[in-house]
Amino acid sequence: MIKLIKQSHQSDHVLEIIFSSLRWFFLMLSILVFYNQHKSNPVDLYLYLFLILVIFGVIYMALSDFCLHMAHENSTLYRTMTKGGPFLDYISYFALIALTGGIYSPLIPIVYLIILHVTVYWKFIGGMVASLLFMVGYTVVFVLQGRMENSFDYMTYSTQLAFLLLLGFLGGIVVSRERKLFTEKNVFENLANKDHLTNLHNHRSFQEQLRVAKEKNNAFYLVFADIDEFKKINDKYGHVVGDLVLKKVAKILSMNTPPSVGTVFRYGGEEFAILLYTDEYNTVVTLLENLKQKVSEEIHDYHEGRFSITMSFGCCKNGDQEPIELIDNADKLLYEAKRQGRNRIIHKQELQSG
Ligand code: GH3
Ligand code: MG
Ligand code: MG
Repeated sequence: MIKLIKQSHQSDHVLEIIFSSLRWFFLMLSILVFYNQHKSNPVDLYLYLFLILVIFGVIYMALSDFCLHMAHENSTLYRTMTKGGPFLDYISYFALIALTGGIYSPLIPIVYLIILHVTVYWKFIGGMVASLLFMVGYTVVFVLQGRMENSFDYMTYSTQLAFLLLLGFLGGIVVSRERKLFTEKNVFENLANKDHLTNLHNHRSFQEQLRVAKEKNNAFYLVFADIDEFKKINDKYGHVVGDLVLKKVAKILSMNTPPSVGTVFRYGGEEFAILLYTDEYNTVVTLLENLKQKVSEEIHDYHEGRFSITMSFGCCKNGDQEPIELIDNADKLLYEAKRQGRNRIIHKQELQSG
């Protein structure tokens, strides 16, 4: 739980897990509150309504948790469930309040959490709209409760309305400020780690991920890949075409390297680094053979000319060496691929045996 709270400022997903856990907590609390209020009463309509509400709540929360853990964060299902959550919370909340004492329900403060949740997605406007909707719902409950003659009830009612309005207003301001900084942070982080031309992860990101991979101590392979005779492409067709070729090669490499297996980086110039997080040599060989083939099969057809290119690869498995030595190893294997005539893959094993 402490780990979750620490991570919550970095990820909306973690925040959603916290909100979802709170729903389960409040369901239990509601059952306790209802039981305490109704333990002396005989079985009545309220009990049936409450049971329906609990069953509805359990189904909805179980479904929501399932999507939260199973669906991808960018999927429509995930976004529908997380963004739709506050709407169902709104309906359930008023049903719960109406059944547990109206404006005197001990569960009233749950509203503050729902408004906070809304502001995460719909910021200031969302906070204000949510507050107003809750004020309307709250007024309906108050009127239906039929205690409008009592001045103390009026005072309770108006104080709570004022708090709702204040929370929507202040919460909206605070959260929208935090959201703006959060978005900016993500944009800057992305800019700092992405290569401008190819949109691949850049050199800085490579060094960072190599360091992390080394620290984790799981098996991985490092591959260096370089376009063959690229200078000639620039000389013959111009640097603009050269740039387009680099973009296309980057796309071929990244599209044919599943994110679950590895990451492609632009190391610099026309040189790429690939980290493959696997222990299986055969997986690495098959993947690299496929990359080499896909790059050489691509026909580059521009106004300036039509041509194809090839790439050379140097591949070695991580060992006990320092990151800089590992890079040096992969670079030497790439150099060996060039020396042997280009358009080939040299693995460390081959170099030792050959
Ligand atoms: P080799 O097969 O030995 O790798 O030969 P090569 O010509 O590819 O190697 P070399 O290192 O001599 O040339 C690399 C060229 O890549 C030189 C440089 O102009 C070009 N280059 C590096 N970065 C970029 C870039 O961002 N855009 C373009 N268009 N060219 C680039
Ligand atoms: Mg080259
Ligand atoms: Mg080069």
